[in-house]
Amino acid sequence: MGTWNCQRCGNCCRWPGIVKVNDTEIANIAKYLEMNEDDFLDQYTELRPDRKGLTLISKEDDSCIFLEGKNHCTIQPVKPQQCSDFLVKWFPKPEDNCDAIYTEDENSS
Ligand code: SF4
Ligand code: SF4
Repeated sequence: MGTWNCQRCGNCCRWPGIVKVNDTEIANIAKYLEMNEDDFLDQYTELRPDRKGLTLISKEDDSCIFLEGKNHCTIQPVKPQQCSDFLVKWFPKPEDNCDAIYTEDENSS
């Protein structure tokens, strides 16, 4: 077993698709942005296509609303869990879609 190490290329933030946010994440992001939660919900979230929860909205080019430039997340300290889980849960074959580098675990004992 090894580990995929994110190289922060930002591809996943530009990938079309949803970025799930739960109640705790909404509260944390709104606080980080110094907004009240209702305003944050109005401005930055929408219902997911499956209608089972909320997603961050996207820009016209399908990139995440909080992506700045090529790879800077403007809510990095409070980004949703989905963003941290990206390599593990989103890309069945990370090597096709992202710049992550695979390293074998050196210490297996
Ligand atoms: S696409 Fe892969 S390497 Fe690039 S930022 Fe996302 S997880 Fe990291
Ligand atoms: S919240 Fe940040 S890390 Fe997550 S998709 Fe948006 S820009 Fe990328």
